[in-house]
Amino acid sequence: MVNIILLGPPGAGKGTQARLLVERRNMVQLSTGDMLRDAKASGSPMGRRVAEVMDRGELVSDEIVIGLIGEKLAAGGGGYIFDGFPRTLAQADALARLLERVGQRLTAVIEMRVDDAALLARITGRYTCGNCGEVYHDVTRPTAVPGVCDVCGSTDLRRRADDTEESLKQRLLEYYKKTSPLVGYYYATGDLVTVDGLGEIEAVAAEIAAVLEGQGD
Ligand code: ADP
Ligand code: ADP
Ligand code: ZN
Repeated sequence: MVNIILLGPPGAGKGTQARLLVERRNMVQLSTGDMLRDAKASGSPMGRRVAEVMDRGELVSDEIVIGLIGEKLAAGGGGYIFDGFPRTLAQADALARLLERVGQRLTAVIEMRVDDAALLARITGRYTCGNCGEVYHDVTRPTAVPGVCDVCGSTDLRRRADDTEESLKQRLLEYYKKTSPLVGYYYATGDLVTVDGLGEIEAVAAEIAAVLEGQGD
């Protein structure tokens, strides 16, 4: 079974590529950001606890996100895309242990490289479908009919509370301080592959497909 991590700063295109892999390769997307936003929307005690932290652009505690991923992996299986997880070295260690427990291992860690100037444009133009989760962009990937999701027809298109220039600044600081060390870590384990995240969506998808080619799924 192929299990990959999509690693990259906010707006690098992780969610977009994960959705394509789900559609084209039947993989399973595990996005801690989506799980946390669901918890926030549900108003659960945990959701209430993480809401402010997320809105400030800071990382939620390792304990909470490791718990969320642990629940998903407990069922076993494989074919996972870890999208936005791990974000700290402690999370990376926990993931290795959780995978081992269910007899799975990492196939590759795909680092999506995008420069900071492009990230601002990506983040401030992002909107998603509240019904099916499809990811759009004002300039690079608008819906065919304004206000209507191409995939499911819903008119519930939303912008994230944290997709502002101010929050991006904080999220980038968190990325460089806490998450970017994972690039060196996975280089050392031999799992790291870097792709150019600046190309068009299908060009990035082709690079990722080439990485997965020959890994056997
Ligand atoms: P992006 O699409 O910008 O990369 P995500 O949707 O992955 O952002 O995450 C949104 C927010 O959720 C983060 O800014 C952080 O507050 C929280 N979050 C998501 N995943 C993690 C994680 N693995 N560890 C800690 N916090 C997380
Ligand atoms: P992440 O999950 O890494 O935060 P997303 O997949 O949500 O990133 O993408 C951020 C924004 O950039 C979205 O509005 C998306 O439509 C857009 N986007 C994603 N990949 C590309 C690309 N290769 N070229 C141009 N825009 C892109
Ligand atoms: Zn939709």
